[in-house]
Amino acid sequence: MPVDTSPEKAIYVLETGDFQTLLDAVMERGHSIFGPVLRDGAITYDALHRDTDLPLGWNDRQQAGSYRLVKTKRKTFFAYAVGPHSWKKFLHPPSDMLCAAQRIDDRFSINEPDREHPRRAFLGVRSCELHALAIHDKIFTDGPFINEAYRRRRQDILIIAVNCSHPSETCFCTSLQTGPRATGGFDLALTEVLTSGNHHFIIETGSAAGAELCARLPVRKAARTDIEAAEKVTSAAAKKIRRSLNTEELRETLDQKFSDPHWGQIADRCLACGNCTMVCPTCFCSTVEDTTTLTGEHAERRLKWDSCFTAEFSYIHGGSIRSSTLSRYRQWLTHKLAYWFDQFGMCGCVGCGRCITWCPAGIDLTEETRKLQEKKFVIRRTNGR
Ligand code: SF4
Ligand code: SF4
Repeated sequence: MPVDTSPEKAIYVLETGDFQTLLDAVMERGHSIFGPVLRDGAITYDALHRDTDLPLGWNDRQQAGSYRLVKTKRKTFFAYAVGPHSWKKFLHPPSDMLCAAQRIDDRFSINEPDREHPRRAFLGVRSCELHALAIHDKIFTDGPFINEAYRRRRQDILIIAVNCSHPSETCFCTSLQTGPRATGGFDLALTEVLTSGNHHFIIETGSAAGAELCARLPVRKAARTDIEAAEKVTSAAAKKIRRSLNTEELRETLDQKFSDPHWGQIADRCLACGNCTMVCPTCFCSTVEDTTTLTGEHAERRLKWDSCFTAEFSYIHGGSIRSSTLSRYRQWLTHKLAYWFDQFGMCGCVGCGRCITWCPAGIDLTEETRKLQEKKFVIRRTNGR
């Protein structure tokens, strides 16, 4: 059918049997597709080419400190919540070469990394992840210091969002108004609708590129009933979300509770492993590492993900500023939920729940924050921690 290619919002229906045509159309535009795949016992993000590469029929069960895949009989494409990976690994990779040096006889040459930017499509981006991408866009490209590598990688990304139908027990996006329905920042947003005898996608266009893609697909214009069915999916997902974070006066409360003994109780459980920062889609801290080969022929300088949970992270001449686990956990949580506002004018958390699921000690920032909020009086510590 002829499709409206204007950037204004348009809504269509694509049958699941035609999903491969969407992937083909994306690849014909020159994008390599990255999306959800089953790997290492989890739903992770990697390259895919066929709809059969998607985690068809797979669901997950997540709790604090626990993640399990569950195979279902339903042939769903996107019936899972976010896993351990986030899109930051593509735009702000865990290890990124800044430059390399090679010895040639008694001279050496300095090589800069390839400046080409890959043309990628991200498939299956959740609403909370769109908000995380917007946070990184602000941090890396909207200030006086631009991260050129991020800007290059980000500029040609085609984003195909998928609205959440199966939030996990650790999700709390509704508290931060970051989900479960995508409201912007995408080229296309899909809602998977599966009812008796019906399995299709409602596709909403969000950009001229998205509208142009739809023009290549065997879609039909969505009827009122189709749109209502899609709305039911996301409103049912919102109702399933039980965890919450009370953001009212949160910044002020965390300031007041800086010396509360509860930080010590968290620190007694925290392993300072840094998992929470690695899985978080908004954590962005990095360090620079130089290495040389044993022969001295080759040297590299790499930017690597770092974590505020390591002693080295806050090391300055004379020692580490945050020498205790208490001070590191407090730094992480208060940066996310309080000082991020001072730095970037927004919250540093999007409520994806990854740090709760992937914490080996099952520490839950919503629960710890609630305990601090419930305490009426500030008790100052005297033991110097
Ligand atoms: S702090 Fe936790 S819940 Fe918030 S964005 Fe990071 S991983 Fe997700
Ligand atoms: S809060 Fe959990 S994931 Fe984060 S450093 Fe402590 S033990 Fe590791």
